[in-house]
Amino acid sequence: MPLQIIRNDITKMKVDAIVNAANNSLLGGGGVDGAIHRAAGKELLAECRTLGGCDTGKAKITRGYGLDAKYVIHTVGPIYEDGKQGEHELLESCYRESLALAKEYKCESVAFPLISAGVYGYPKAQAFRVAVDTVTEFLLENDMLVYIVLFGKEAFMVSEKLFADITEYIDDRYVERHTDKKLEKIRKCAVLGSVAKRANIESAICEASSAPEDLSSRLSQIDESFSQMLLRKIDERGITDSECYKRANIDRKLFSKIRKDVNYKPSKPTVIAFAIALKLTLAETEEMLKKAGFALSHSNKFDIIIEYFISKGIFDIFEINEVLFAFDQSLLGA
Ligand code: ADP
Repeated sequence: MPLQIIRNDITKMKVDAIVNAANNSLLGGGGVDGAIHRAAGKELLAECRTLGGCDTGKAKITRGYGLDAKYVIHTVGPIYEDGKQGEHELLESCYRESLALAKEYKCESVAFPLISAGVYGYPKAQAFRVAVDTVTEFLLENDMLVYIVLFGKEAFMVSEKLFADITEYIDDRYVERHTDKKLEKIRKCAVLGSVAKRANIESAICEASSAPEDLSSRLSQIDESFSQMLLRKIDERGITDSECYKRANIDRKLFSKIRKDVNYKPSKPTVIAFAIALKLTLAETEEMLKKAGFALSHSNKFDIIIEYFISKGIFDIFEINEVLFAFDQSLLGA
C-alpha cells in the first residue's frame, strides 16, 4: 500500500503506529517527543522507563495509551553535524528499523514525523528526501500504508532547484494563459468551435435516433475502455500488475477493482498515476486520460506540473507528489 505525505499534528493520526523522534534516554523531550508524551499520558513514560534507552539509528516500541495509535515506535535520529559523520546512514536506519518493528507488530498503517529535522538540525529538505527514499524502498517489497507527516511550514521545502524550475514552467504556461490578451480571441474561437461541434453532435443524434440499427452497430464497435487499455499497456511494458500499482502508489484493492470492472471510471489523479507508472509519453497519457473522459490543460497547476514531469521523462511518483504537495495540489495515487 502507498506512501502518503500529509500536513498534520502526528498525535492526531488514527493509525496503528506513530513514530516518535526520541532521544537516547527515551524519557521524553521537546518537539514531537514532548507532544506525543503529553497526548499519550504518563503511562507512556512509565513504559519507556522499562526499555533501558535506545541507540541512535535503532527503534523500540511501546503501546500508545491515550493516543489513537495502538503503538508508538520510538527511534533516535542522528544529531546533524556536517553530514560527514554517518548522519545519512543513521537516519535511513531509523526509518528501516521503525518499519521493521511495525511489520513485526503487524501494523497496517504507520505515521512518521521528519526525524532529526527539528532540534537535531538535519536540513529539512534532505531529511525529507531520506524519509521518502527509505519508505519507498520498503513499500516496494511490503504492503503497508505509510504517512510522512509534515508539520507547519515543512511543506515548502522541495529541492529548491526543482521548485524553481517548476515555478518557471507554471508561470510560462498558467500565467500566460490567464493574462494574455490573445485569450479573449482564443475563447471566442473556442465558443464558435463548440457551437459547430454541438451542431454536429445534434445531427448525429438525429441520425442515430432515426436509424436505431446504425446506432447499435456503432455501439458494438465501442472503443477499448480505460481498464482494458491499462491492462494492455502493462502487458506491453512487460511488467507485473503489482509492479505497476506499486509504482503508481495505488492500493492493491483499488487495482483489483479496476482490473475486474471493464467500465471502471477512475479519477483523474488515478489515471495519471498509472500513466506515470507505465512511463507513458505525453501523447499516450492524453490518450489514456481521454478514455476516462479527462484531458490535460494549461488552466490548472496540477496539469502543468504533470506535463512538466512527463515531458522531462521523470516518472518517480513520489518526487512528483512532493512537488504537487508543495503547490497544494491533489496527490497521485490512492
Ligand atoms: P529531532 O530532535 O529528531 O530533530 P524534533 O521533535 O525537534 O525532533 O523534530 C522532528 C520533526 O518533527 C520536525 O520536523 C518538527 O517540525 C516535527 N514536529 C514537531 N512537532 C510535531 C507534531 N506534533 N507532529 C508532527 N511533526 C512534528
